Amino acid sequence: MRRPDYDIVILGGGLAGLSLAVRLASVPYLRTLILEPRTTYVRDRTWCYWRLHAHPFGDAVAARWTRWETLHRHARNDVRHTLQDSAALPYEMIPADRLYASAQSTIAAQPHIELCTGTRAGALRELSDRVEVETETGRVEAGIVFDSRPPTARPGALEQIFLGQEIVASEPVFDPGRVTLMDFAVPQQPGAVHFLYVLPTSATTALVEDTWLAPPSAVLPDYRATIRTYLGERFGLADYAVAFEEAGAIPMDTELQAEQAAGRIIKVGAAGGAVKPSSGYAFLATQRMADRLVADLAAGRPIRPVQPRRAVARWMDEVFLTALRLQPEVAPRLFSSLFERCRPAPLVRFLNDVGSASDTARVIAAMPKLPMLAAFAAHLRGQ
Ligand SMILES: Cc1cc2nc3c(=O)[nH]c(=O)nc-3n(C[C@H](O)[C@H](O)[C@H](O)COP(=O)(O)OP(=O)(O)OC[C@H]3O[C@@H](n4cnc5c(N)ncnc54)[C@H](O)[C@@H]3O)c2cc1C
Repeated sequence: MRRPDYDIVILGGGLAGLSLAVRLASVPYLRTLILEPRTTYVRDRTWCYWRLHAHPFGDAVAARWTRWETLHRHARNDVRHTLQDSAALPYEMIPADRLYASAQSTIAAQPHIELCTGTRAGALRELSDRVEVETETGRVEAGIVFDSRPPTARPGALEQIFLGQEIVASEPVFDPGRVTLMDFAVPQQPGAVHFLYVLPTSATTALVEDTWLAPPSAVLPDYRATIRTYLGERFGLADYAVAFEEAGAIPMDTELQAEQAAGRIIKVGAAGGAVKPSSGYAFLATQRMADRLVADLAAGRPIRPVQPRRAVARWMDEVFLTALRLQPEVAPRLFSSLFERCRPAPLVRFLNDVGSASDTARVIAAMPKLPMLAAFAAHLRGQ
């Protein structure tokens, strides 16, 4: 039988595609091609995650914190502040350009891996022994295709919509010892959830993100003006420069958790359900997915489909999102209760879909009961 052009073709050289590629560096007998439309890699996002397990991009980590806080406005209008810390589970930050550079240098040293930029993949045709991939410049054959092309969410699904600015302050105002994960003590608007996220890398520099959980149709206030007001009110800062900006809209759509199917075309990354619908985090799930898939390939066994999270976690995300959709005004209390009442280790494991049954029980015990019961009932009614 004729061998296809490549053993592996990866569609998309973003987080998931490059995460697979750097692991495939140690599997020299698998000829691998990555098809990526962009022609240059620049910093287009910043990944943060709790370091629950190792991954190959340790050299790209730019900052690490062991303390994180949440703030929300209490019924009597006072601001409630929760601080958690864990030396064992640091929160880490990777600017995308550092990860892209790290992956590109690994790939460049491997003659069996080609990164083909400026090339968009089109239709796929799965045959019994290969997959045909259409590209703008012709057809490529693959034994296996990993498809990380961005998925399309259902129209109207809730999104995490944000704009972040890397602030360079004229005076020391930030505490680089702690991250503000979610500051809900900011103006809210009906039908949406609003918080700011602060990642200080020194006393004068921080990535500050204005974030909304809202349907795509929501009309939201100007992000840059909101960040300016926030910096003034919380840090007394008026004079600053913006060194970098990023923006995104991550779908919070439980339908994007489709089961990974067996076969020659395997969806990975966001397309393979790696984004946790209730939080928008995908970095660690993508790493675990890449570990599992490449372990199967390296062992020469058929690839076992990877599910990013168990059925119970999927179901809890659905109930949580029902609560956000039907009662967005309770979201600050929902999120804050978790950080107030649950210890860091079980909470972080739960938020990353690697929690045990007892972690899940602790998280459920920490949630405010009435809004969650209402969301559960609405979910059962199919609302
Ligand atoms: C601004 C931003 C910040 C984020 N921050 C975090 C965070 O802090 N923590 C976290 O866990 N998650 C975060 N996420 C969510 C998630 O981790 C990222 O979206 C992540 O990049 C998803 O990885 P991916 O490989 O699935 O998609 P991408 O990284 O978007 O890669 C998909 C690739 O497919 C390519 N492509 C598109 N069309 C084609 C085509 N036709 N043919 C071939 N290739 C194609 C694209 O050019 C791209 O390179 C963030 C997302 C954004 C947008």
